[in-house]
Parts: sequence; C-alpha cells; structure tokens
Amino acid sequence: MKTVDTLNRPLRDLRISVTDRCNFRCTYCMPREVFGKDFAFLPHKELLTFEEITRLARIFVANGVEKLRLTGGEPTVRKDIEKLITMLASLEDLKDLTLTTNGSTLTKKAQALKEAGLDRITVSLDSLDDEVFKSMNDADFPVQGVLDGIEAASEAGLHPIKINMVVRRGVNDKDILDMAGFFRGTGHILRFIEYMDVGSTNGWRMNDVVPAAEIVNAINEVWPVEPADANYFGEVAERWRYKDGAGEVGVIASVTQAFCRDCTRARLSADGKLYTCLFSNFGYDFRKLLRDGSADEEIAEYLRSVWRIRDDRYSELRSEQTIDLPKVEMSFIGG
Ligand code: SAM
Ligand code: SF4
Ligand code: SF4
Repeated sequence: MKTVDTLNRPLRDLRISVTDRCNFRCTYCMPREVFGKDFAFLPHKELLTFEEITRLARIFVANGVEKLRLTGGEPTVRKDIEKLITMLASLEDLKDLTLTTNGSTLTKKAQALKEAGLDRITVSLDSLDDEVFKSMNDADFPVQGVLDGIEAASEAGLHPIKINMVVRRGVNDKDILDMAGFFRGTGHILRFIEYMDVGSTNGWRMNDVVPAAEIVNAINEVWPVEPADANYFGEVAERWRYKDGAGEVGVIASVTQAFCRDCTRARLSADGKLYTCLFSNFGYDFRKLLRDGSADEEIAEYLRSVWRIRDDRYSELRSEQTIDLPKVEMSFIGG
C-alpha cells in the first residue's frame, strides 16, 4: 500500500534512534556544556523495547518502508544491539538494514553485527588529524581507533562502507583533501556533509558551512571527478566518480542544495515518537499506541494519516529567520 504525503513523496526509509546516549560529545551534536554529567537522558523504561521497535518496523515495512537505519546517539552503546538486528533482519520485504556509528566500538562489535544480519554500515569520521578529531569528538578518542573500527567492519564484510565527514569552516575544512586522498581506492565511499543547523544547542551560523560545490571543486583540482548517477530515487548524496577509476565520493548538500522534494524518510526517536523531518519540533507518539493495546492495523492507519498530511520542507525554506526556531536535537532523533 503506497501512501504519499502532500508533496507526493512516499515513505521509503525509517531511521530508528535506539538510544539518546553517546560515548562522544561532538561539539556540533552533543556539546558538553549542554550534555554534561547532569543531563537527563531517557530512563530505560521510556525507551522502546526491541520487541516494540520490531513490531513498529514490521508495520512500517508493510506500509512502504524498504530501508531501516539504526542510529542515535551512538547505536552500538545500546545493550545487546545485535539482538535487535537479528529481529529486524528477519522482516520480510525489508531491502536494506544498516547502521550509522562513530566507529568507536567496531573492533569489538563489527563481526557480531554482521552475523546478526546487518547489511552495511556508515562510520562517521571528521578528520585524520588527531588534534582536530579529538577537539571535535571532545572525548579524547583517537583517529586510529576509528580507522581500526573501519578495518574491522571491512573484514567482517559490512560492504560498502560509507564514511561521513561533517565539514565545518575553520575547524576541519583543511582536512578535506587528506580524507579524500586516504579513502580513494579503498572501496569505501567518503561523503562530505554540510554542517546543518539541527537542534538548538550547536550555535550554527551560515558562515560555518562549507558549500558542497566548494568541496567538489577542491577535490577536482587534485583528482578530477565526474558526476555519477543517483543510485535510487531519494538518494541524498550527490555522487562524484574519480576519472582515474579510484572509486567515488559523495557530498550531502543539505544546506546549499536542499533535497526536500525527494525526501522519503521519517525518524523514530528512542522513546517512540515519529518525526517527519529532521528539523521538526513535534513528534507523533507511537509508543502510546504500542502500549495501550492498539492493534497493528490501528497503528498502521495512524501512520498513514500522519504521512498523508506531511508537508515538511525545512531545508528549502531555510533562512536566517528559521534558524532560531525550536527544533529537536539530532542526538535524540538520529542523523
Ligand atoms: N553516533 C553516530 C555517529 O556519529 O555516526 C550516529 C548518530 S549521529 C547524530 C549521525 C550523523 O549525523 C553523524 O554522521 C554526524 O556526524 C551527523 N551530524 C550530527 N550533527 C550534525 C550537524 N549539525 N550537521 C551535519 N551532520 C551532523
Ligand atoms: Fe555522538 Fe554521533 Fe552525535 Fe558525535 S555525532 S555526539 S558520535 S551521536
Ligand atoms: Fe527531509 Fe526535512 Fe531534510 Fe527537507 S529538511 S530533506 S523534508 S528531513
């Protein structure tokens, strides 16, 4: 059954935040001044259980979702995450099951994630320079720890591995070429992400954004690239192929070239609220339905009713006026 929203967009992918906690304090996502030791994270009973997540996922898949991505916070710090992956991997009609991680636990967990049924993985890494990376993750975590994690994921067969680098002007923009050079020819796909004004705590300003076009130009001057086609409708990364055959890079230009028109994704927070846009300040409460005895068909009807009225296109409307509107934090609903 295909439901489309007011802009004729189907629901195709669901990002599931399995925890609002994280072992990093990336300055652009969970700044330590806000997410300090007194911060009230969700108590365990507020989190959806694995059974609840799987039940909802089954309903979503029956209503058009083809791709599930586990995220957070840091999804691999949720206890027994492999069990959830096993449960989700058994869903019929699911085409793609993946996870976004900061990579810090992969040397221990990659093999188990693969064996549980994870198809592929995305690892975030913002710099190859230890000093820059540590200042960005604010948890004193070294670059090598993430590179070892990427290696472990590769050995476990979680291909193709995508590497996400959020670029902030004056912070890590000088590392763009280092990163491109390092991952060229490895088979891993590096993607540069424009720094976004998610949440209300990271102090975002337009001047912090390095436009994707500038990134592609810088790479093209050293290693010529040509455009490659999108893999599927709604793919957010613009793909560029190295002309010498050393693979490809992607840019996610969510600020300078908004792609709301093709946005087929929804986000489920760790406590079971559905957000129809990364920049929403309101989530629809599915946990309530899961816990009040509603039947699957009632939950499905609620989902369809939520999707039918969706009209989000925040990035297309973004302006100096919208940046100060209240928004949910990314660590809460997942990137
Ligand atoms: N902890 C995992 C990780 O870091 O990969 C998963 C959750 S994290 C919120 C998902 C992705 O969002 C990461 O690649 C992160 O770099 C990105 N991200 C977080 N805040 C962002 C921002 N303000 N602008 C752009 N990307 C951001
Ligand atoms: Fe944690 Fe990921 Fe946010 Fe960094 S980007 S603080 S690793 S959730
Ligand atoms: Fe989708 Fe909202 Fe991002 Fe636009 S701003 S691409 S609607 S999540």
